[in-house]
Amino acid sequence: MVQAPISPGKQAAEASTSPGKKVSRLEGIKERSQFLREPVATELAQDTTHFSEDGIQILKFHGSYQQDNRDNRIKGQEKDYRMMLRTRNPGGLVSPELYLTLDELSDKYGYSNIRATTRQAFQLHGILKKNLKDTMASIIRSMGSTLGACGDLNRNVMAVPAPFKDKPEYVYARDYANRIADLLTPQTPAYYEIWLDGEKAVTGEEHPDVVAARQRSGTIVHDNVEPIYGTHYMPRKFKCSVTVPGDNSIDVYTQDVSLVVIVDENKELQGFNVLAGGGMGRTHNKEETFARIADEIGYVDKDDVYDLVKAIVATQRDYGDRVQRRHARMKYLIHDWGVEKFRTKVEEYFGKRLQPYKSLPEWTFYDYLGWHEQGDGKLFLGIHIENGRIHDRGAFKIKSALKEIELRYRLPIRLTGNQSLLLTEIDPADKAEIDHILSSNGIDAEDQINLLHRHAMACPALPTCGLAVTESERAIPSVLDRIQSLLNKLGLKQEHFVTRMTGCPNGCARPYMAELGFVGSAPNSYQLWLGGSPNQTRLAQPYMQKMNIDDLETTLEPMFAFFKKGRQSGESFGDFCDRIGFEAIRNFSESYIPAKKASGRRKHRVGVSGEIYQQLKDAAANKGLSMAQITEDAIAAYLNNQTN
Ligand code: SF4
Repeated sequence: MVQAPISPGKQAAEASTSPGKKVSRLEGIKERSQFLREPVATELAQDTTHFSEDGIQILKFHGSYQQDNRDNRIKGQEKDYRMMLRTRNPGGLVSPELYLTLDELSDKYGYSNIRATTRQAFQLHGILKKNLKDTMASIIRSMGSTLGACGDLNRNVMAVPAPFKDKPEYVYARDYANRIADLLTPQTPAYYEIWLDGEKAVTGEEHPDVVAARQRSGTIVHDNVEPIYGTHYMPRKFKCSVTVPGDNSIDVYTQDVSLVVIVDENKELQGFNVLAGGGMGRTHNKEETFARIADEIGYVDKDDVYDLVKAIVATQRDYGDRVQRRHARMKYLIHDWGVEKFRTKVEEYFGKRLQPYKSLPEWTFYDYLGWHEQGDGKLFLGIHIENGRIHDRGAFKIKSALKEIELRYRLPIRLTGNQSLLLTEIDPADKAEIDHILSSNGIDAEDQINLLHRHAMACPALPTCGLAVTESERAIPSVLDRIQSLLNKLGLKQEHFVTRMTGCPNGCARPYMAELGFVGSAPNSYQLWLGGSPNQTRLAQPYMQKMNIDDLETTLEPMFAFFKKGRQSGESFGDFCDRIGFEAIRNFSESYIPAKKASGRRKHRVGVSGEIYQQLKDAAANKGLSMAQITEDAIAAYLNNQTN
C-alpha cells in the first residue's frame, strides 16, 4: 500500500492504487527493500554471477542494470551476465578525475568503451557482478555517483550544456539543475553502506535552500527516510531538465518536468516557466501507450521553485498509476486528467496558484560542436561522438585522444543531450595542441563531420540491452551512409535532418521527436516515424509499421524525391512531411518510378488487376505497411499453404 502523504489528504494514497486493483509487483519489492538496501546487499556478498529478479529491480535505483551479452548466448548454457553502470551528472558535468576513472574502469572491468548517453551521463558496459562493488566504489571515490541514474525516481537532471560564463541565464540553468538534482536525491544511507561499506563519501555541499526545502511541510512524508519520495519512491522513472529561453539542446518537451530560466532586463533571475508531462516510451500495438510532448503549465517565482517541484513530484507520487507500470509515467496522469485538473492538483499541494506561462522566443537546437568562447577568456570545444561510443577502432581513436587530453590538461567535461561532449575551461594557448591530439587520433574537425551523422542518435540496443528487438547503434552508421547515397543520387547532397534510431519502442534515443525515426519492431525491421521538427518541438507520427531494413532505399527514395519536388524554400524534411501529410506521401510513393534502379534487395514485378491494386493500396494505408510488404507476406503465406 502506498503511504499516505501528509497533505493535502489521505485520499491521494488510495487514488494512486486504483481501489480494488492490485499494485504492481515492483511496489512490493520497493517496500521490502528497506529503502533500497535489500536484496542487493545480501546478494552482492554471494558468490554468484547474477542477481535475482528482485535484486535486479533494486539494483536499478543504484544506477545499474543487469544485462547479458546477447551475442554470447548459447542454448543450454548460462547467460554471459554483465552489469551496466550509469553515472548521475546533473547538467552533464564530469570532472577530469571522474572521466579518467571511468576510462580506467572500462579497460579493467568493462568492454573498453564508455558511452555518452542521451541524458548527459556516461555508461559503462560489461561489468561482471564480482567487479561491481570495486567499480562503483571507484566512481564514488572520484566524486561521481550512480545513485538514481536508473529506477523509479528522479533521473539525471539535464541542463543546457554550454558553459557560457557571460550569459547569466546559462549560469542559473546549470546552478538550478544541481539544486533540483540535490533536492530529489534519495536520502537512504543504503547506497554508501553497500558500495563503500558505510564510509561517508565526500560529496558537494548542498545549497541551504535545498536542505530547508527538502524538510518543509506540505508535501513530504513525515518521519520517513525519504521525506519526498516515501517508502515506495515514484511509480515510475521521472525526468527533469533546466534550460534557457530559445535553447532546446536538451529536448525540453520530452521531460516529465522542464524549467525555463526567466530573468529581468538586468539579467537577474526572476523565476521559471514550467512544462510538464513529456515522455517517449511506448509499446508496439498497445494504443494506450504513446509518446507525448510536455504541456506549458505555468510560471513560478524563483523562491517557490523547490516547493513547486516537490508539489509536482508529490502529485505523481500519490496519483501516478502503481497498478500498471506501462501506464505509470506522469504523462499518462496528465493525459487522463487533462492539464487543468493536473494543474489544480499541483496547486493544492503547492498551496498557491501557478502564474501564467511567459512568452518565449522560438526554440533552436544547438549541438555546440567546434570551438566557442566561454565568455571569460577561456574556450570550450564540442566533440562529436558517433552514437556516444567512446572507443578506439582502427584509425579512429577518440578514447585515446580524450585520455591524452585529460591527462595533460584536466578539463571539466559537459556532456550534451545528444551523445556528444564539450571540453571546457580551455586556455586559448592550448587550442592548437588539442586540435593536433584530436586530428592525429583520427577525429574529424567540426566542419568535416557528415551532417546526417552529426544530427543522428541511436540507443545501444544489441547486444547489451535486454529489451532490444533489433539493432540500433551498430546499424545506424551504415543506414546513414545509405541515406546519404540516396540523397546524393537525387541531387540532395547537402540535405540533412534529424535521424534517430532505437532497438525497441522504449525510445531511449527519443526517435519520436526525429524528422526521420526508426523504431525497432522485429528483427531487421523498424517502424518508420516522420514529421518531427529540426528544433525538436513537434512529435513525429508513425508512417509505416514495419520496414525491413533491406527496403530502406525503395521506401525512402520516393519520399525524398517528393520532398525535392514539393518543398517550400528552406523547408526541412520533417516540416515538409508534417505539412504535406502522409496520404500525399503515400500517393506519390505509389506512383513513383525510380530514376535509376535503387540499390538494396532486388525486386521483381508482378502484375495485379486494378481492383486488387486498389484494395492493396487501401490495406497498405490502413495498416501502415508498404504494398510490397503486404504482397510479399500474402504470396509467402499462399505458397506455404500449397506446400503443407
Ligand atoms: Fe534498449 Fe529499447 Fe532503450 Fe534501445 S530504446 S536502449 S533497445 S530499451
